[in-house]
Amino acid sequence: MSVLVVDDSAFQRAAMKHLLEMEGFKDILEAQSAVEAMSVLESGAAVDVMLLDVEMADLDGISACRKIKALQPFQDLPVIIVTASDDPEMLKKAFEAGAMDYLGKPPTALELGTRVGGAIRLKREIDQRKARERELEQLNLKLTSVNELLRRLAVVDGLTGVANRRYFDEVLVEEWARARRNESNIALIMADVDHFKAYNDTYGHQQGDECLKLVAGTMQSALSRAGDMLARYGGEEFAVILPSTDAAGAFEVAERILRTVSDMRLEHSGSSVADHVTISMGIAAMCPDEQSSVQGLIEAADKNLYKAKEQGRNRVFGI
Ligand code: GH3
Ligand code: MG
Ligand code: MG
Ligand code: MG
Repeated sequence: MSVLVVDDSAFQRAAMKHLLEMEGFKDILEAQSAVEAMSVLESGAAVDVMLLDVEMADLDGISACRKIKALQPFQDLPVIIVTASDDPEMLKKAFEAGAMDYLGKPPTALELGTRVGGAIRLKREIDQRKARERELEQLNLKLTSVNELLRRLAVVDGLTGVANRRYFDEVLVEEWARARRNESNIALIMADVDHFKAYNDTYGHQQGDECLKLVAGTMQSALSRAGDMLARYGGEEFAVILPSTDAAGAFEVAERILRTVSDMRLEHSGSSVADHVTISMGIAAMCPDEQSSVQGLIEAADKNLYKAKEQGRNRVFGI
């Protein structure tokens, strides 16, 4: 708890110091000019309150106060202006310059002690409040990143990194409603890896997992529109939501996905369709109305997926 006494008169400084000591303040720093006061502050000394003389040779106390308070680290430093002048204009100027209090010269010990004590208490409160605010800010930052992580965990499929089933269901309902509002099309692609049971049987479950990751990544790379969303529907099945897309558009996207997966040439000796991993897809596109439903869209795409399987796999079946 230190008090910085700034006064160009050595006598005045000694008098102030004496009075402060009488009031129980022990840690008293002195400066004989505004410049010296600045260097005390900038040296990092823990100053709790500054008593600033107005009439000083180089820079007057009011200007010094304004300068110091403009510096970010000293914004909260309480400054008490001390002057022999009883000009009311001076009082106004002192407060405008950021002073917290104003003392006539010479102050009594009681007056000085009360004002300095009050300023120090206020400074402590401000410091504590700021520390609490900083803590809260840190906590908020942490909370934001934890929330972000939770949000990701809630929507992302752990194995493949694409959207999970839960999120797919949510987005499909939203997109369906949007298409209904806008009277636009919405398309859905259901995709299923061909002979995946045989893949697991041949290469092992772990390799099967790796295969699913690769298929998901490749399917994702075949999508170009920002609104398109690939999700893991379950097991070795994937789904793609294509907003504002009709059957012909969906067919085009599905064909591209089919080619991209096939072009990976991921060895699959257990497949009766090809010597590499392939997928089959069913597509459905609708313009939502009273009669249609999200469930209907999924069923239609599913039915077409079944047809694609039936007709020999490694193909797209649409309407
Ligand atoms: P089809 O061409 O008719 O789709 O044949 P399929 O063998 O792919 O279909 P089936 O439904 O008989 O088998 C799917 C297999 O996918 C069985 C299951 O063990 C496997 N599978 C499902 N999820 C995972 C997974 O997360 N990892 C691995 N490695 N295998 C999975
Ligand atoms: Mg003076
Ligand atoms: Mg399947
Ligand atoms: Mg399959």
